[in-house]
Amino acid sequence: MSVDELTAISRFYGADRDYVVAGGGNTSFKDGDVLYIKGSGASLAEVENASFVRMDRRALAAIWEKTYRADPDEREGAVLADMMAARKRGEEHKRPSVETLLHDLLPFAFVVHTHPALVNGLTCSQNGEAAAGSLFGDDAVWIPSINPGYILSLAVKRALEECRTRKAVIFLQNHGVFVGADSPEGIKERYRFIMEKIGSQIKRQPDLSALPGESGAGFGESEKAAAVFAELAGGSPVSFLRNREIAALTRSRDAFSPVSSAFTPDHIVYAGSDPLFVELPESEIPGVSFAGVLERAWKEHVNRTGRAPRIAAVRGMGVFGIAPSDKAVKTALELFIDAVKVAVYAESFGGPLFMSRDKIDFINNWEVERYRSQVAGTGPSKTDQSGKEGASYEGLRIRK
Ligand SMILES: [Zn+2]
Repeated sequence: MSVDELTAISRFYGADRDYVVAGGGNTSFKDGDVLYIKGSGASLAEVENASFVRMDRRALAAIWEKTYRADPDEREGAVLADMMAARKRGEEHKRPSVETLLHDLLPFAFVVHTHPALVNGLTCSQNGEAAAGSLFGDDAVWIPSINPGYILSLAVKRALEECRTRKAVIFLQNHGVFVGADSPEGIKERYRFIMEKIGSQIKRQPDLSALPGESGAGFGESEKAAAVFAELAGGSPVSFLRNREIAALTRSRDAFSPVSSAFTPDHIVYAGSDPLFVELPESEIPGVSFAGVLERAWKEHVNRTGRAPRIAAVRGMGVFGIAPSDKAVKTALELFIDAVKVAVYAESFGGPLFMSRDKIDFINNWEVERYRSQVAGTGPSKTDQSGKEGASYEGLRIRK
């Protein structure tokens, strides 16, 4: 019965854009010694009972008794091997989420982990920790930004051990929230409480409405720019996006700064860690074409970051999503809009706070490793069940 409930609550949150963008997040259910955890690659909105991996909780607990090497590569590799070995018989073809240990630590039957923009307005803000403390007091635990994997789970384990009462809400800085309860109704109640509490503090809502009188006619420049970006990206699909909030952000490089880097790992994975911002000259420069300005900015960006941008903003114009497939373009723009919301919500908590450069690099390197493993045929398939270009970083082979 309860795996049915797990599937139902997973779909409930998976289908709600206020909670889940691009299939991210994961859920679990504990039944005695068995943990049912969402397999990596399955989108929350579309999970079925069979999407969950059955794990032996005693084997997971035994991981905490072991001593692992200090070297991050060796340590994470060994932990992952132990986690794979903790799958119940018959589950060997499934990949549990990298956040499995975290789910197992929470002493509640149900755990629903999501990355809502509203919550991340808090977790990705300058005053997030203080605000979480004053809003939720002893009801929640705050975990500072930590690379995913064993050390994050260890930090949560220690934080929970320090508490005298059991904690049902864990805020992860620059990441999202874990919510536990012994029933699906309890999960919903806690999430409602969290969203209402944080929502009550929001002073300004993102304005994603269309600008009046813009039907695309008169915006021929954006089509020209899209064609240039498509060519620079080797024929990739490109899509243009503009609304009131984006118009304000693309007014100048300064105005763009609240969304100029990455808030969470999902933003990096789907929209890239470094959006390109192109300054168009105020007036035409003799001998330099519009395409030439875009091309120079693009090449400078690729040289500096080592990657082609997935998001390119052009001053006074709007934002372009550029990725290898239409689906990936759509996801990149969805994650960019999510970042816009996070940035606006964070205004109410002292302003936005990006991930630190070393933590951004960690996720980027993780992605590189995933790509290599795909090429070598050892990793998850390039397109996961939800059809996204590249599954979540969760469940990947870990490299420093
Ligand atoms: Zn997560």
